[in-house]
Amino acid sequence: QAKGAGRNTMRFFDPRTQAAVTARTALESGMREALRDGQFLLHYQAQISQARGMVGAEALVRWQHPQRGLVSPAEFIPVAEASGLIVPLGAWILRTACLQLVEWAQDPATAHWTLAVNVSARQFRHPHFVDEVLGVLEETGANPQRLKLELTETLLLDDVEDTIERMTTLRALGLGFSLDDFGTGYSSLSYLKRLPLDQLKIDQSFVRDLLTDANDASIARTIVTLAQSLDLGVIAEGVETCEQRDMLASLGCHMWQGYLFGRPGPASALREAPAGAVV
Ligand code: C2E
Ligand code: MG
Ligand code: MG
Ligand code: MG
Repeated sequence: QAKGAGRNTMRFFDPRTQAAVTARTALESGMREALRDGQFLLHYQAQISQARGMVGAEALVRWQHPQRGLVSPAEFIPVAEASGLIVPLGAWILRTACLQLVEWAQDPATAHWTLAVNVSARQFRHPHFVDEVLGVLEETGANPQRLKLELTETLLLDDVEDTIERMTTLRALGLGFSLDDFGTGYSSLSYLKRLPLDQLKIDQSFVRDLLTDANDASIARTIVTLAQSLDLGVIAEGVETCEQRDMLASLGCHMWQGYLFGRPGPASALREAPAGAVV
């Protein structure tokens, strides 16, 4: 909206701004095509329990771009959020994840695996989100007990009453909820207590320097203690070394996810025994 003359006009025609707008518009229309042409795919990353070995995976979306190759969700998810495309894309992700669960359910070796699916704010707040989850479960026949939704703190606290209502409905079906990137937001303890969560996920920023940064170690310890007192599970993400894994275990976190156990990849790659699992 060029406001006639003056400094706004200057900014409007700034070639760098113009280039950014063009790139973003291209990304948006590219994503619309990608959704239609089946260019999105899910990768899976193992989740490991110290006592039980591999207990499930997290689904991470990828865009197989015809020219650019594999595009990172860090690049396109924010654009999908802003444009509203996250709603159809999120529906595709959820459906694909449920089909994967159904496939795992057919093999006794994998039937107990859970699948964690990231849900973004705009997708979660959509008026039809709960019905959509119900519909996908019904249509695919996936076991809701095996499905875990990963939400973030900012999403949850945006409208706490609405959040609790949606979570409670879905939880009654057997779904689980994990609080992703935990520690990076602003959760107050009183809200946390009210939310029907199952698990806290220690953000990878606290795991990275766990062995050298005493602050990160005490944050991780605090999250574990918090999870215990709220009767929640706890999992750490971004675990890359045996030393990080062992340190987390000594702090009371016995569930892990990270490159140590395997990079995100096609579902077929999960069948190989994960490295680094034996303590
Ligand atoms: P997230 O949900 O916190 O996912 C963890 C990210 O850490 C993933 O990046 C994963 O590949 C990466 N990671 C896993 N292990 C390690 C490790 O040991 N070291 C390091 N340095 N990184 C590790 P990715 O796949 O690029 O996804 C980035 C973010 O994009 C996700 O963060 C999530 O917020 C979003 N995202 C990914 N897939 C989906 C999706 O299907 N739906 C939605 N709404 N968001 C998604
Ligand atoms: Mg996640
Ligand atoms: Mg995370
Ligand atoms: Mg993240």
